Amino acid sequence: MKKRLVILGSTGSIGTQTLDIVSAFPDRFEIVALSCGSNIELLKKQISEFSPKYVCVRHDADRLTLVDQYPDITFCSGAEGLIELAQVPNIDILVVAIFGTASLLPTITAIKNGTAIGLACKEILVTAGDLIMPMAKQYGAAILPMDSEHAALKQCLAGIDEDMKQVDRLILTASGGPFWERDGSTFSNIQVEDALKHPNWDMGAKITIDSATMMNKGLEVIEAHHLYQTPYDQIDVVIHPKSIVHSLVEFTDGTMLAQMGMPDMRFPIQYALTYPEKWTNPWPKADLTTLGALTFAKPDYEKFPLLRMAFDAGKQGGNAPAIMNAANEAAVHLFLTKQIGFTDIFRLVEEALSDFTHNSSPSLEELVAIDQSVKDKLGYTHA
Ligand code: MG
Repeated sequence: MKKRLVILGSTGSIGTQTLDIVSAFPDRFEIVALSCGSNIELLKKQISEFSPKYVCVRHDADRLTLVDQYPDITFCSGAEGLIELAQVPNIDILVVAIFGTASLLPTITAIKNGTAIGLACKEILVTAGDLIMPMAKQYGAAILPMDSEHAALKQCLAGIDEDMKQVDRLILTASGGPFWERDGSTFSNIQVEDALKHPNWDMGAKITIDSATMMNKGLEVIEAHHLYQTPYDQIDVVIHPKSIVHSLVEFTDGTMLAQMGMPDMRFPIQYALTYPEKWTNPWPKADLTTLGALTFAKPDYEKFPLLRMAFDAGKQGGNAPAIMNAANEAAVHLFLTKQIGFTDIFRLVEEALSDFTHNSSPSLEELVAIDQSVKDKLGYTHA
């Protein structure tokens, strides 16, 4: 039996790497549906290689052109189109590889159908983890993280009792991004081009900026809290510039398990797609004898205040992580389009957290509304 996949965001970084894995195991996966934004040329190549039955594009004008060219495919468009793809019958895994809260409602739709989620979108659990994790349990939908740190933690926790009583700490590693060693007093001079150069990982623009500000690690801390039901005072971050150790678990007996490998997103994506199995693949492996020293250091919360803000917002709970996430999404967009400077991202997130009213147990509708209000205030409309 082939695993039937739907990929939201098939032309992005995670989407294309997911399709690399599908190509490596053509007898074991079937692509049922794809969605993309506006990279129609790449979408056409993917259609001819993977023959999806359903395709969603962001703009309806693109749908109208494609309908004539591919009469055998069912097309849809926009935000409602994503929800339609999430409801395609008999899907094994919905791969959510669109950044931002745009995929929140399609993800919830799939969970309510009992479909497993391959989760590459951090903003979903950060915004609504308190609602989504119990919902996934209720409907029997697995949440399979497609991120190196959370996939690492999942492997280190394999065989550990669900009550987590044997676990002392989850330790997420962080590369530190391109500015880990840069003098913090020069951060206001950082240009978009500098921030888009990540030393180890090949990722989309939004997450690459998040890595440069270290908000990425803050979002991952909140995700780890939800995925593994771990209090924030039992989650730590260590700087590990080589990105070979992907995360660790420290147990009550003082020992640790680490998960290691090359910094290549195809490993955690494959683990999510094949879980709980491990399949032989052709990707380059790590050679310990050529890696040199693996180093670990404390994070600098002064230089990277968003990491501290993420811990604080996580501990505050309720709608605070949603406010922080929405302000960050908007601020990163403003930075990428050169409307604000690098350190303005820190300022706008901090201001949003103090400007918007705290709600300790928001409903889904309230979370969606606050996400929109914060983005509106910062003048961000997702293209
Ligand atoms: Mg990561």
